[in-house]
Amino acid sequence: MADQTDIESRKLLRRLREAMAEDSAGQARLDRITHLIADSMNTEVCSIYLFRDAETLELCATEGLRPEAVHQTRMRMGEGLVGRVARQARPVNTADAPSERGFRFMPETGEERFSSFLGVPIQRLGERLGVLVVQSREAREYSEDEVYALEVVAMVLAEMTELGAFTGEGAALQARHTQPVSYRGATAQEGAAMGQVWLHEPRVVVTNPIADDVEAETQRLTEAVDQLRLSVDDLLAAVPKGDKDQREILETYRMFAHSRGWTRRMTASVERGLSAEAAVEKEQSAARTRLQSQPDAYMRERLNDLDDLSNRLLRILTGQGGDTGAQMPDRPILVARNIGPGELLDYGRSLRGIVLEQGSVGSHATIVARALAIPLVIHARGISTEALNGDAILVDGDQGIVHLRPEENVASAFRDKMAMRAKAQERYADLREKPAQALCGTTVRLMMNAGLMADLPSLEGSGAEGVGLFRTELQFLARNKVPRRGDLAALYGRVMDAAKGRKVVFRTLDIGSDKVLPYMKREEEPNPALGWRAIRVGLDKKGVMRMQLQALIRAAAGRPLSVMFPFVAQFDEYRAARQHLLDELERERKLGHVLPSEVEIGAMLETPSLAFAPRQFFEMADFVSIGGNDLKQFFFAADRENERVRRRYDTLNVSFLTLIEHIVKRCAETGTPLSFCGEDAGRPVEAMCFAAMGLRTLSMRPASIGPVKSLLRRVNLDEAKEAIDAARGSGDQSVRPAVMEWLRGLG
Ligand code: PEP
Ligand code: MG
Repeated sequence: MADQTDIESRKLLRRLREAMAEDSAGQARLDRITHLIADSMNTEVCSIYLFRDAETLELCATEGLRPEAVHQTRMRMGEGLVGRVARQARPVNTADAPSERGFRFMPETGEERFSSFLGVPIQRLGERLGVLVVQSREAREYSEDEVYALEVVAMVLAEMTELGAFTGEGAALQARHTQPVSYRGATAQEGAAMGQVWLHEPRVVVTNPIADDVEAETQRLTEAVDQLRLSVDDLLAAVPKGDKDQREILETYRMFAHSRGWTRRMTASVERGLSAEAAVEKEQSAARTRLQSQPDAYMRERLNDLDDLSNRLLRILTGQGGDTGAQMPDRPILVARNIGPGELLDYGRSLRGIVLEQGSVGSHATIVARALAIPLVIHARGISTEALNGDAILVDGDQGIVHLRPEENVASAFRDKMAMRAKAQERYADLREKPAQALCGTTVRLMMNAGLMADLPSLEGSGAEGVGLFRTELQFLARNKVPRRGDLAALYGRVMDAAKGRKVVFRTLDIGSDKVLPYMKREEEPNPALGWRAIRVGLDKKGVMRMQLQALIRAAAGRPLSVMFPFVAQFDEYRAARQHLLDELERERKLGHVLPSEVEIGAMLETPSLAFAPRQFFEMADFVSIGGNDLKQFFFAADRENERVRRRYDTLNVSFLTLIEHIVKRCAETGTPLSFCGEDAGRPVEAMCFAAMGLRTLSMRPASIGPVKSLLRRVNLDEAKEAIDAARGSGDQSVRPAVMEWLRGLG
């Protein structure tokens, strides 16, 4: 039987809906709503505070406080009790507000007369919209029931806000999803793009947050949950027998789908008068809030699972999502909370840009975006709930800035910037056939990095002499099972065909730790970057490495083959990996396959230890390639994925350049060819300094070849070296200021 609070709650929600249906402006509605809530909850005060901007809350309507304070009283996130509710996204319930920690006295409101205070966040899907407060003179704590009732009302307010109910003439709020908003995120792939938003997960719109018939609504919810459970069972049944990991993931889904607590909480919300959709969103919102402050990676994953399940349930209830019939815009810019590498590969090159709320510099999605050369900004918090399909959007991947629905002056400045880029690219195109020869006569070989078949056309366009690094992990990451040898051999063969005789250096699988294959047994490691990865996995699990080596040998068939092993930390690892390749060659010979015409076996130098390996290593290695991204992170002990530290140490730091110089010397002593293939090779000033330190081969993103070549052709590397040495002698931490000064002097 429904209890009294449920009945009261439903009555209030019905009255709220009637208020919404009245033909009044946004402000009048807000005023009426505060009146209704205070009346229903028997409190003297009810106030609604809404965010004016990301950091400022404003009193937008009140019953019981002084009306003059409306639109005057403001507080920052975290300030006072209201600010605390907003920051923590949790209720604050106190019988004696003035003596509460952090209480802020606001004389204009006259609130000092009220002793008790209950504030709950108004939030939708983890997006903070405001705070709903009730206050009374009598010093009492509100009951759990009252807190819950106020949360239910706040949920309805959130949905109404989303539907634009409080906008319009004299309204407190600006219309949602119409204003320009800028986001400062982090760069994951450079480049600039302008286009229209394409949401990876189309937003589910809940048009009616309040239900009339509790029984019918509970029935709807129960049926939808049943359907959800069946669909998870179907998914589970479709998993191949041996696929334990996939099974484990879906088992967790199933556990959530059957969780009594989850369904009980949703049913309770429906009994209070929420619609089934709003009840699901209320739970989802709470989970997202927890997600945002959850430090534990495992728990975050589980909360993400729950979020995904809630989305499925919403789609079942609303019939929205999935195929919404929306047309992908001409210049789609993908906006998502997060995305997996396989999904991103499905979109492929149709995307102009990508903006993610989460993500990291080293995530799989980032690797794919890099391989596709699509500008990517990560950590753009809140964008996936603010953006609508088709909104105009500008992505500045160089600065990590995104402008959603930009004003005309911002858009035109951006267009100018894009035009300048295009002009510069045209200038670089003129250099395409010219060598990267410095004024001193030294020529540097510029190669490109690749990871997909689709990258190969850039060989012609960029003027690269070959592929200095072909990352082979994408084909493994994007699938649900280990690719077959025949498929890999065919792909590698096509890559070589497309290179038309130019060199392609294939790097064997660099996987493990954070780059976990969906089908690989995952072991939690305390420090994944320093863990079981790359060659360490290859040598321990020989099957996959041998299969890949066979595929490479078969692909080459009569052509030269160049292979390098990633993350070699000591001589033995290289020797063992090399032996595997030699064994496979022998095996293939015995099987009667055509062998490569010649084979080069290299090592990537990505840990400082290898720079100090025995001379015999350098003698044995056919070539060495510096993986600067990893080398730098280990040299400075600064995680390349951690935004806090990753830019802290300059590549042109004297210590790092001295390490590079040492490696150049070690290779020169044994005549071992040396190249550099980290991201820094694509930055013109860094590339010039590496060349000045003696590097003669650099491998980079195709788009960087032009800018690097252009600078190299303008300088004398001997003079550059003098400038670098002078700075090194002067005790400077980085040679950058001195080098920049020297470059400016060249005019
Ligand atoms: C590097 O570490 O510099 C490198 C080229 O390898 P990856 O970026 O794929 O780790
Ligand atoms: Mg590396």
